[in-house]
Amino acid sequence: MGWAANRIKTIKDKKLIDFLATHTVIPKYGFPVDVVELSVLSHIDAAKNIQLERDLRLAISEFAPSSQVVANGYIWESAGLRVVRNRTWPIYWYAVCPDCKKFYIQGGTIEETPPSISCDIHGAISRRSIHRFVTPIFGFVTSKDFEPKKPGESRPKREFTTRPYFFGYKGPEEKRFSIGKFRIKSMYSSDGELAVICKGKKGVGFWVCFDCGAAFSERKRGKHKTLYGTDCSSPLRGPLHLGHTFKTDVLSISFEEPNISSRDESFWLSLLYAILEGTSQALGIKRQDLDGCLYPSEDGIMLILFDNVPGGAGHVKRIIDEENLYEVLKSALARVRNCTCGLETSCYGCLRNYENQFCHELLKRGVVLEFLKKNLGVRE
Ligand SMILES: [Zn+2]
Ligand SMILES: [Zn+2]
Ligand SMILES: [Zn+2]
Repeated sequence: MGWAANRIKTIKDKKLIDFLATHTVIPKYGFPVDVVELSVLSHIDAAKNIQLERDLRLAISEFAPSSQVVANGYIWESAGLRVVRNRTWPIYWYAVCPDCKKFYIQGGTIEETPPSISCDIHGAISRRSIHRFVTPIFGFVTSKDFEPKKPGESRPKREFTTRPYFFGYKGPEEKRFSIGKFRIKSMYSSDGELAVICKGKKGVGFWVCFDCGAAFSERKRGKHKTLYGTDCSSPLRGPLHLGHTFKTDVLSISFEEPNISSRDESFWLSLLYAILEGTSQALGIKRQDLDGCLYPSEDGIMLILFDNVPGGAGHVKRIIDEENLYEVLKSALARVRNCTCGLETSCYGCLRNYENQFCHELLKRGVVLEFLKKNLGVRE
């Protein structure tokens, strides 16, 4: 088979795997789904055989326009989204209710006018809180004119981060646990729905040309050039966020006792990240294969833990077991107890990591230490 035929076969196989994985014909675990490429347009030798691929969950930040990556000994810079003739990117409108922080999402179009989105509890959400994201399903591209540089002393800095949002699951299995003074309700589903969103530098979004794919991480006025260096007269649209919706294994944790009426984000996020660290430690799961977020429900704030692996991997499912949950909470307690940073703050040794940068200032190990110590009790 020639190169072209091989390439076509690869593409077909990939589509088939995507199709089968999304339709659960074959076991979903372990198959790469939703993988996109940063295509390098350069003609220099080092550009040959470069294969820069990421799952969309990561690609929306690591390949975001103006991001730099190292490959074959050079630094390459993303300059836009790949376009495919007669096809467009999926577009969604989304909003986070300013009062309860619940996440809402609905399909969108190229239309600029935001739809009205209402919170179940707090009613109409103001336009200021309604945003739009595109899913760059065809991948990203560098510009043809970009001169790749040799990486210097320091690696290029990672400029963009993402934040996950949970918005529903099907047929969750429910269990209740009594551990120490805790009464915990936990639900597990292999069919949880999440969105991960990259809001650009300081949340300002991206400006994207829907015709040529050129994209910028700040507002740009006037004409722009295509990725091939020619003039383009189409408008840049923005601000747009980059996002991706996906399904994975999800587990929720709600505390029935003690009843916590507080919706203090600082407390809940600190507890969430302590429990994620505890899960990783107690159950021997790589920390980057787990993630979480908060979700408001009638019973108060729910902690959402999910498998941060395409299609899920059966990780968080293991928490819906009394012995494992106890070990997870105990490890979470150890994590916040054994750190040496100030109780009123947090560090990379306890609750912080690269992914949760958006809330570093809110993370405090002291509140979690007090909460877990008071309620957990220690079994012998
Ligand atoms: Zn609300
Ligand atoms: Zn253009
Ligand atoms: Zn610390």
